[in-house]
Amino acid sequence: MTKVVIVWFRDDLRLQDHPALYHGFFHAQKNGYQILPIYIYEGGMGEAARWWLHQSLAVLNDAIEGYLHTYQGDPVTIMTDLTTRFDVQKVVWNRRYTPQGHQIDDQVMAFLKNQNITYETYPGTVLIEPDRILKSDGSYYRVFTPFYKSSYLGKDFEPPLPSPFLNTKPSTKLFSTDLSSQNIDVLPSHPWHQKLHNYWIPGEQGAHEQWHTFLKHGLNGYKDGRNVPALPHVSKLSPYLRFGNISPRIVWSSLQNSDAPLADVNHFKSELGWREFSIYLLYHYPDLPNMNFNRSFDHFPWSFNEELYIAWTKGKTGVPIVDAGMRELWETGYMHNRLRMIVGSFLVKNLGIHWMHGRDFFDDCLLDADAANNNAGWQWIAGSGADAAPYFRIFNPLLQSDKFDPHGMYIKKFVPELQNASLNFLMDPYGYIGPAIYPRPIVDLSKSRAAALQAYKTLSSKEN
Ligand SMILES: Cc1cc2nc3c(=O)[nH]c(=O)nc-3n(C[C@H](O)[C@H](O)[C@H](O)COP(=O)(O)OP(=O)(O)OC[C@H]3O[C@@H](n4cnc5c(N)ncnc54)[C@H](O)[C@@H]3O)c2cc1C
Repeated sequence: MTKVVIVWFRDDLRLQDHPALYHGFFHAQKNGYQILPIYIYEGGMGEAARWWLHQSLAVLNDAIEGYLHTYQGDPVTIMTDLTTRFDVQKVVWNRRYTPQGHQIDDQVMAFLKNQNITYETYPGTVLIEPDRILKSDGSYYRVFTPFYKSSYLGKDFEPPLPSPFLNTKPSTKLFSTDLSSQNIDVLPSHPWHQKLHNYWIPGEQGAHEQWHTFLKHGLNGYKDGRNVPALPHVSKLSPYLRFGNISPRIVWSSLQNSDAPLADVNHFKSELGWREFSIYLLYHYPDLPNMNFNRSFDHFPWSFNEELYIAWTKGKTGVPIVDAGMRELWETGYMHNRLRMIVGSFLVKNLGIHWMHGRDFFDDCLLDADAANNNAGWQWIAGSGADAAPYFRIFNPLLQSDKFDPHGMYIKKFVPELQNASLNFLMDPYGYIGPAIYPRPIVDLSKSRAAALQAYKTLSSKEN
């Protein structure tokens, strides 16, 4: 039987700065083993994310000249199968930090131990692993600023690792070809995703191109520009980071060499810090997807009106800025952060619908959907999260629109019915008449705001 080192790709679909691949490669080379690169689809991903996954796997497979073996199902069953076909010398992978990821990895480790097969795991998807940051009393941070200050602010990290194929082309000598992989089918059945090709080039090279374009044209002015959705001052790196097409260490280290204003560089770093904070929170509070971080919200009197919810999902609420955000999501699989906050607040506070409904919809539609950031984002919006926006600070979408899309450029880009609508209408659909084909607002902003505050009061009175 062929002696192999299995490199198990997961949320790290790249060749550069991939510690498991790097070390696995040199171990195999030194010992005359072959490499068996595998990916196992474990299920549970939303439709948009599956499109990104499909594309990223294809790009990775091309980069290693077609030797990626893909499988679908339970990793222990698949590892069991592989050990009957190969003389597996070692299995290597980069660690994950979600509750499910953990559980699966524990099961695989127990299996390998039982089979006397060596395995090695590495950090690869975060700058600092969540178990490495604790407060002096041994508890974990619940507030972002001290978390970030303690370990990230002004810090430098190990330089990224090069691709092991920098000087060697992938070749049949190194890769095992004994087994044809399963044809995994992760693409959503409905062809809506075809348009996503107009907006994205998933995969490692696409990630680097996206990042370098942003470094050149978007980073200068990021601190303020990141709030204005019509401006190109956000990196759109989130799906690439989600699937590990680029590592946060590569991003951080190129920021160190950037000549953009320090305020912009530092602000961008702090946003990477928020990504780490969400991953950290989910690690230390694995119930984040199922429970309010602030448990007093367990008594909140949510309501669910299906008609209103559907209008929200379809971007037909009659509130232009909200609809533009939801339509951006439909059209591109991405939504600008300012809009995620606006549409989130509208759902939770003006429509009174539980944050988990919004979370589920985002989970299905966002290319960058991930358990940590999506749950942390929604709990932040709902006021129930760690270091969250206080519930009573309710966004007024019209004021947000006026402040962050003052010329209505973003709205007009994504809501074609409003192409010729007056600016007055875009900023105040209650006070002005709009096009007949555009819906009237589905909710009264001030009444629903008052109702939300009233509901919040019942919560505080229960607490006392
Ligand atoms: C309700 C809600 C749900 C969200 N769901 C997700 C999600 O599923 N996946 C996801 O990656 N992000 C999520 N976010 C966070 C944020 O909106 C996106 O990371 C950001 O909009 C991605 O765009 P960008 O790459 O252009 O950001 P940039 O501004 O260019 O930021 C660079 C990187 O920093 C990180 N980042 C930026 N803002 C945040 C933030 N507020 N929280 C955590 N990380 C951040 C991301 O990795 C991002 O790619 C959510 C936010 C909210 C309010």
